[in-house]
Amino acid sequence: MSQYGQVQVKDNRYKFRGDFHRLEQHMPIRNADEGWKLVGVTKPRDMTYVHTYGGEAIFFESLSQGKLLATKCENPACEANGSIFQPFRIYCPDCLSKGTVIDMTDLAKKSATVHTFMVCERSGAFNMLDKPIRFINIEFENVCTILFSYLLVGEPHMGMRVVPVFKYHNPTYTILDLSWVPAGTKAESLPEGFGF
Ligand SMILES: [Zn+2]
Repeated sequence: MSQYGQVQVKDNRYKFRGDFHRLEQHMPIRNADEGWKLVGVTKPRDMTYVHTYGGEAIFFESLSQGKLLATKCENPACEANGSIFQPFRIYCPDCLSKGTVIDMTDLAKKSATVHTFMVCERSGAFNMLDKPIRFINIEFENVCTILFSYLLVGEPHMGMRVVPVFKYHNPTYTILDLSWVPAGTKAESLPEGFGF
């Protein structure tokens, strides 16, 4: 078995190692009703996608350390000056200046509520969450945007107080490392790998 592609940055360049495109053995498709005549082949193949986070990398790194970062516009000339953005936006959408990175973990712990939600019984390909998925939209005090995430424990309802949990063990370095549970949930009822 060949090695999956891995990437590292060194001397300000991307260094690639291993296979980024893999082909497996083709398999025949045969017709059972017509003497197993050949109809075609399946072509198993996979590819490793290289996804660069750019200015958002610090957001994903911080999730693995139990911190929820946001950005804030501090441009005095901006009409939206003082606006806090969660999800993390590198640039203010109103004045296009670079936002200041802030840690809003405590704010989220104290003020997060479910704005609305949906429960999804079926998912698309490559879904990594347990079904049914309880998608929630989360509101925070003094934050002008709403965050889309998922509830890890319990059943959602409108206005429910929730607190963030983080995947400390084997983080994926994706948004799935951040999830939410009803306020007051005990640490022992969290799935393995997650903590407050
Ligand atoms: Zn601005």
